[in-house]
Amino acid sequence: MAKLSESQFNTKYPRVGPHLLNTSLWNDFFKCPCCGKEHFFSEETIDIAGDIPWNKMLVLCPEHKGVMVLYAKTFLGFGFKGFEVLDWTEL
Ligand SMILES: [Zn+2]
Repeated sequence: MAKLSESQFNTKYPRVGPHLLNTSLWNDFFKCPCCGKEHFFSEETIDIAGDIPWNKMLVLCPEHKGVMVLYAKTFLGFGFKGFEVLDWTEL
């Protein structure tokens, strides 16, 4: 996980599409690097700004401290194995 500047972030993740991933089976806590707290991920509690190819989402910190790339780990594409934050940037 790395903290990136906004321009580094945009360069590294140029392909953010509309949020279409089905995340109904992905409910878990993740450690937020933006505010240092744990947040619970669900469609109701977390603002998802968009999808990034291969199980990644652009997610907003609920405390409005930044945005991060949240990666949903799976086993061979099936079976949710928890979240990993890949990169983040301050807003
Ligand atoms: Zn946070």
